[in-house]
Amino acid sequence: MRSSIIGKIEKANRYIQEPDRVMFQDFKLSFDGDHSAYSVSFTEGKMYCSCDFFSNWGMCSHTIAMQKLLGEMLPVEAQTAVPQYSLHPPTHSQLELKIESNT
Ligand SMILES: [Zn+2]
Repeated sequence: MRSSIIGKIEKANRYIQEPDRVMFQDFKLSFDGDHSAYSVSFTEGKMYCSCDFFSNWGMCSHTIAMQKLLGEMLPVEAQTAVPQYSLHPPTHSQLELKIESNT
């Protein structure tokens, strides 16, 4: 009995050296940002954040941080900073509009 538990722990230690064995499918977490706590969630291959920046750009420092933390434990399409599936990159005119609206 005891030796089988040791075997499981040894196997777990081997597994954690190979994080690509783990694939997140769904999660929700609280992210303690510099200014506030935000809700970051991941479902059906897409990551979301409750911060204002994310609602405008479809990405933010919180989702990028989670991408870097989880790395290959996320599906390949969710590992990039700008999610191709949910949002087209902002056009030049949209960028100018953002700058003007902040002044
Ligand atoms: Zn965010």
